[in-house]
Amino acid sequence: MKTRRFQALLDELGGLTPIQRTALATALKAGGSADDVIALLESEFATAPACGHCGCEDFSKWGVATGLKRYMCKACGRTFNALTGTPLAHLHKREKWLDYARAIVDGLTLRKAAACVGVHLETSFRWRHRFLSSSKKAKATRLSGIVEADETFILKSAKGSRGLVGRAPRKRGGKPKKTGTSPDDYDIVLIARDRSGATTDHILYDLTAPTTAEVLKPLVAKDAVLVSDGRGAYAAFAHAESILHIPIITSRGEHVYRGFHIQNVNAYTSRLKQWLRPFRGVASWHLPSYLGWRRSLERLAEAFTPERCLRAAFRCEPT
Ligand SMILES: [Zn+2]
Repeated sequence: MKTRRFQALLDELGGLTPIQRTALATALKAGGSADDVIALLESEFATAPACGHCGCEDFSKWGVATGLKRYMCKACGRTFNALTGTPLAHLHKREKWLDYARAIVDGLTLRKAAACVGVHLETSFRWRHRFLSSSKKAKATRLSGIVEADETFILKSAKGSRGLVGRAPRKRGGKPKKTGTSPDDYDIVLIARDRSGATTDHILYDLTAPTTAEVLKPLVAKDAVLVSDGRGAYAAFAHAESILHIPIITSRGEHVYRGFHIQNVNAYTSRLKQWLRPFRGVASWHLPSYLGWRRSLERLAEAFTPERCLRAAFRCEPT
């Protein structure tokens, strides 16, 4: 194809929605690419080969089974392959894994991912949480400089908490019966972010000062400047730890105090909530995966590729 025509084609592809891109990638790869997936994961395994049962590094080759090289561990005497002991063990249809990872990178809902990749909804559910199992670990553990902190309330959903089939979800997003910020209706998430972009979030059991302090104490450097809203828990923490604290009292119309503000963390929260909207409510016990998923998308941007997503799931390590 001539360069100009190829460039025109690329320009058109740039205008595709995430769903269209996933569908196109799936169509182009029709016929499966299980070999690509196996090659990717076996090369990952080769970087730190060890028994998936006991972690021993002393083993011998033991043929091939279900398309994967098999090994025999000299310590525990059991056979294993590259996937043993990883979140990807015992999942079928390997030829669709990279397409499914693409659906994750594109932020598709369970149903859209299932339709685009061509798997059952329950498979989509299982794969999503296996593929994202490491994402919840990838969060900043230390924040320094100007640290903005704020809490947000995310509407709870019972969806997915007991499987997908045969029951109507109790709630599917929208508005809860009671307004307010009852822990029954919402998960409370404390989000903190410094000016380098390092970001972390923690689900709080309540809004009390001890709970907030427990989260912030290991996170916020002693010489940081903590900027938050006027909630007393932040002031109490900063006072106890002798950290400089700038409260922004929005109820008094304050948004900036001498150049300090919480607009970075608020913008992050807005993007998170807008991104969560199509999921129409997230079950509490899946919320850490979704929060980690969002952090990966923000932190890695274009570098968050299907291969990287799959590799992280395989390694059980943050993307
Ligand atoms: Zn072993």
